[in-house]
This record gives sequence, structure tokens and C-alpha cells, in this order.
Amino acid sequence: VATDGEAPCALLSGPPPERTRPHASHKGSYGDVAVIGGAPGMAGAALLAGRAALHHGAGRVLVGLLDERMPALDADQPDLMLRSWDSLALEGMSVACGCGGGDAVRAALPRVLSAAKALVLDADALNAVATDPQLQELLAARGRRGAATVLTPHPLEAARLLGADAAGVQADRLAAARTLAERFHAVTLLKGSGTVIASPGGDLRINPTGNARLAIAGTGDVQAGWVAARLAAGEAPMDAASAAAWLHGNAADQWPADRPLTANALAAW
Ligand code: AMP
Ligand code: MG
Repeated sequence: VATDGEAPCALLSGPPPERTRPHASHKGSYGDVAVIGGAPGMAGAALLAGRAALHHGAGRVLVGLLDERMPALDADQPDLMLRSWDSLALEGMSVACGCGGGDAVRAALPRVLSAAKALVLDADALNAVATDPQLQELLAARGRRGAATVLTPHPLEAARLLGADAAGVQADRLAAARTLAERFHAVTLLKGSGTVIASPGGDLRINPTGNARLAIAGTGDVQAGWVAARLAAGEAPMDAASAAAWLHGNAADQWPADRPLTANALAAW
């Protein structure tokens, strides 16, 4: 694959290795995911990420909703445990934060950044970090102590984090992903056609799967849920992000032409 003159860049060439579920395993073997999101009017994004994590094999999934008038139950997915976000203990958890977070997620972030064992930051969590030096310092502190962290910006979210504009990000996606990974000491998955995955150490991967049927609301929340499920099972951040990106795009590529692709259907793929 072409390089941009600084670091070699690998094309993800096929599916990730099959994950086995040993006979004597139990739900604790696959880890706990907590999704933090669902600000008022945005419960759907958090439920999508939670459903996606369940369908991707997480042992248990809790959804910590930021809206005080939270639903008691996801009737279509009763195995999701809905809670108010501040009642969730995050220690030992793999957390996906920001899915439908609105501005309310800002108040949750100091505890999330400090306590989550492994962390995926998406959407409004990234937007909050982009404007708050204290949150940036807590994020960097995770990197310094080696805590697993994956950022999943789309180009506009990446631009906000970089203080640039989206066109500038798109003009050199490899450089944007690498800069974010280094600056925030976190694996960075830059979304869009040709998703780029960059590690803080300079590894770069490009995902060839996926198509514009994914360009609809909610597909990013599904991807965040898949990354969190893989982190919960103990995968390294670079592998979890790469595998989720490849599988997410591949699902769209394999999707029957006559079946509508919606985020909710993708979550159950
Ligand atoms: P978001 O922008 O957070 O809603 O996430 C959208 C998801 O769909 C990301 O995983 C993108 O990589 C994916 N996606 C959107 N448009 C395309 C496209 N044209 N080709 C491939 N993947 C896409
Ligand atoms: Mg999104």
C-alpha cells in the first residue's frame, strides 16, 4: 500500500480471526460493556450502541442514560440493562461514551475518563474533549497509564479535535488520524470511505470494506458498540478497532440489495 512518506500503512486484507467461545466460558469471560449516552431526545443512539455490543458477543451490556426521564426497558432488547448513568460503577468496564450524548455528556466525562478500564469515545464525547483542556489532560493521563482508549471521529469531529476544518482532514486522512493518535495517546479510527486506524506508536491501517449505504444515522453508534464489545473481551485497541471497521464495512458490502440497511438492523448483523 502507498505510504505518505513517513510511516508504512497496511491495508486490512481480510476478516479478523474467528473468535472462539470455549465450552467452559461464562458471561464474565466476555466482559462488561457500559454505554454512556442518550441525552434528552437521543436515547436511540445509546440503545443502538448497546444492542450492537450485545450482538457482538459482550458478556453483559449496561446502558447509562444521561436523560433523567430514562426509559425503564428496551422492550425489543430486554437483555440490555438500562440505568441512569450516574448509578453505574465504571471500574472494570469497557465503556462506549458519547453516543447521543449532547452537551450532557461533558459532566459525565471526568469520571468516565478516570474510571473506565477500556474506553471508546465517539460523537459528543469527542466534541466535548475538543473544547475542554481539562478533559484533554484526563485523556492524555489515560494514555500515560496505558489504559486502552479508542477515538472514533468522523471527519468533522476529527476537525474539531484538530482545530481544523473537515476539508483539511479529508485532504490528508492518514496525517489527521496519525496526529490525533499521537496527540491524545489513543488509537484513532477516522470514519468514512476508507476508514483509517492509527496507533499512538505510528501504525497506520486502512479499511477497504464498506460503502455509502452506511451513510445514514446510527451506523457510527453501532460501530462504537462493536469496538467496545471487542475491548471488553480483552482485544488490544488497535485490533479491536481494525476488526470492527472491517466487519462493519463488510456487513454493508454483503447486505442484500433488496433489504433496507438501517442502523438497527446492522446492530443485529
Ligand atoms: P457516523 O458518521 O458516526 O454516523 O458513522 C458513520 C459510519 O458509516 C462510519 O462507520 C463510517 O465509516 C461509515 N460510512 C459512512 N459513509 C460511508 C461510505 N461512503 N463508505 C464507507 N463507510 C461509510
Ligand atoms: Mg456518529
